[in-house]
Amino acid sequence: MQCILCDIPLEKYLYKNGYWIQRCPSCHLGETDLKRDYTKFVKEFYSQGYYEGDPTRSAYADYELDKPLIVKNMQKFLSFIAKKKPTGKLLDVGCAFGFVVELAVKRGYDAYGFDPSTFAAKKAGELVGNDRIQEGTIQQVRYPKSSFDIITMFDVFEHLQDPLSDMRKLHSLLKPDGIIIIATGDTRSLAARIMKRRWTFFIPPQHIFFFHRKNIAVLLNKAGFTPRKWHRVGKWLSLGYVLHLARTTGESAFANIIYALVRYTPLMRFPLYIPMKDNMVILAEKR
Ligand SMILES: [Zn+2]
Repeated sequence: MQCILCDIPLEKYLYKNGYWIQRCPSCHLGETDLKRDYTKFVKEFYSQGYYEGDPTRSAYADYELDKPLIVKNMQKFLSFIAKKKPTGKLLDVGCAFGFVVELAVKRGYDAYGFDPSTFAAKKAGELVGNDRIQEGTIQQVRYPKSSFDIITMFDVFEHLQDPLSDMRKLHSLLKPDGIIIIATGDTRSLAARIMKRRWTFFIPPQHIFFFHRKNIAVLLNKAGFTPRKWHRVGKWLSLGYVLHLARTTGESAFANIIYALVRYTPLMRFPLYIPMKDNMVILAEKR
């Protein structure tokens, strides 16, 4: 594997969940060796179980149940966007069940979303209307060129297989003064550096790319964007989500026991603020 930014061979970095994460010796961009066809992988992996606690997926214990906390995180992002663009046409990439689209419409945006998961796209269509939702990857979906003011990518960037061509496609969908907002993990955050392989963001196979402020700026520039703002954020997560993540990464037998005890109790929804600030938010303008 070659670094998509530096075009030099990647080096083995860490092994987790049966996958190698490799890393560029120069820019430190991390990439999971997926070992199979991405399009097929996306179709089979992001199934109902991904959102509903399948023990073979390090994903969501119950995405629907987590809605209040997901909304809490997303409202913060939308308030950040509103300072720059309080109205306009918005596209949410990887919209899952459509929570961001619903929130954005409530705030007065003309909002749309898409997701490669058949299960999620159907749920999103039921929530916000099928005319606002498409099913597909960034390369598969069809929208008119130069039609959006805002594109949002919350917890999506790490799932892409070819972020450079994906960003070029999204660039073509934005109006000339359009903006893109990305939230993803930060490999240079304190949590990432201290926890190393135990960092909860290292969850192959669904997390494929691992960026930090500098190398994501290089990628955005290559795709025709100028990064303007950058900050780190903490997150609200449910106890159920945290336990499910801990048990499915196979590194905590203790979490497995606790998860079994609270699985069908209201404790699953118990809100935890994770102040690790291991996620970063980037706002970039189309050039
Ligand atoms: Zn590199």
